[in-house]
Amino acid sequence: SDQPVAILVPGRIHPRVLERLKEDFEIVAVPMGPPTDIDPGIRDRIRGVAISGVLDNGWIDRLPNLEIVSNFGVGYDGVDTAKALQHDIIVTHTPDVLNDEVADTTIALLLNTLREYPRAENYLREGRWKSEGPYPLTPLSLRGRHVGILGLGRIGIEIARRLEPFKVRIGYHTRTRRDGLPYTYYPSLKAMAEEVDTLISIVPGTAATHKIFTSEIFAALGPNGVFINVGRGTSVDEEALAEALRSRTIAAAGLDVFYDEPNVPQALLDLPNVSLLPHVASASVPTRNAMADLVVDNLIGWFREKKVITPVPETPVKA
Ligand code: NDP
Repeated sequence: SDQPVAILVPGRIHPRVLERLKEDFEIVAVPMGPPTDIDPGIRDRIRGVAISGVLDNGWIDRLPNLEIVSNFGVGYDGVDTAKALQHDIIVTHTPDVLNDEVADTTIALLLNTLREYPRAENYLREGRWKSEGPYPLTPLSLRGRHVGILGLGRIGIEIARRLEPFKVRIGYHTRTRRDGLPYTYYPSLKAMAEEVDTLISIVPGTAATHKIFTSEIFAALGPNGVFINVGRGTSVDEEALAEALRSRTIAAAGLDVFYDEPNVPQALLDLPNVSLLPHVASASVPTRNAMADLVVDNLIGWFREKKVITPVPETPVKA
């Protein structure tokens, strides 16, 4: 038919995605969450989804002609790829275009955690520099640290490269060892936590990474230990982390991601030795524009010439 392909957009998404989609497609905007009733005539024309966040599985059951889910973000834990695969639905994501931004943020969060820059700025703004004198010296420093990175993929390698000029020792753990790198490989997260004093997590949110940061890992990291998480909050037992910070089992933590966003546990908010960011690692205008373009270009590529740019490995594109 000459009716346009319709793209379902549950919940909010970057405005550039909608602006660009409008040029080629009909947009069907629905609330985030389980399927709502939509006219069968429109429903049957929905062949794509653009999603930022969690795609309710009910939509996959309800849309008989769905071919592709284009996910905003490199992490696609909000889309059930096993279910998509069963229905021959391709899932795409936005890798690489955000590597540098996320790695930059990781370094900033690490320094904020160690040197308390946000807290020091607040001290100045509150007039306390004038009334109380210099901001207290920070107990922690990056000097002489030994950093272990969990996940050395597209983003992890950029974090490692950025750490080199900071003159710290660098190691990593992944399930598959990478060749030809000047970094120490550790065979497990536990083994790495025992050897390093600074842990950076940049792994995806999967069943295998669910709550792997336990009280046992924090105990292994030790009292000079610093934990930085820019991967996924689901990797962390947040109660164990708050307790490790409270009891000084570890020294400090810096978090950009949380188990149940945007809910940040009060126990973490109440602690002085944690630096918190609201999931902003990739959140600059230029980087989010590049991610928005990739979301749209995957859909355009698919519907114009059956080619996607960045499919996820779980849903290979059949020729
Ligand atoms: P990649 O797939 O390129 O890298 C993932 C790395 O994690 C690989 O080195 C992989 O190695 C390792 N890994 C995966 N599972 C495990 C495991 N169970 N144990 C140990 N290592 C594991 O992904 P990216 O670098 O592009 O992105 C990583 C994640 O960062 C995203 O999935 C997303 O969740 C998160 N992210 C967060 C952002 C934020 O705003 N805070 C922004 C961007 C990304 P191997 O398979 O050999 O184990």
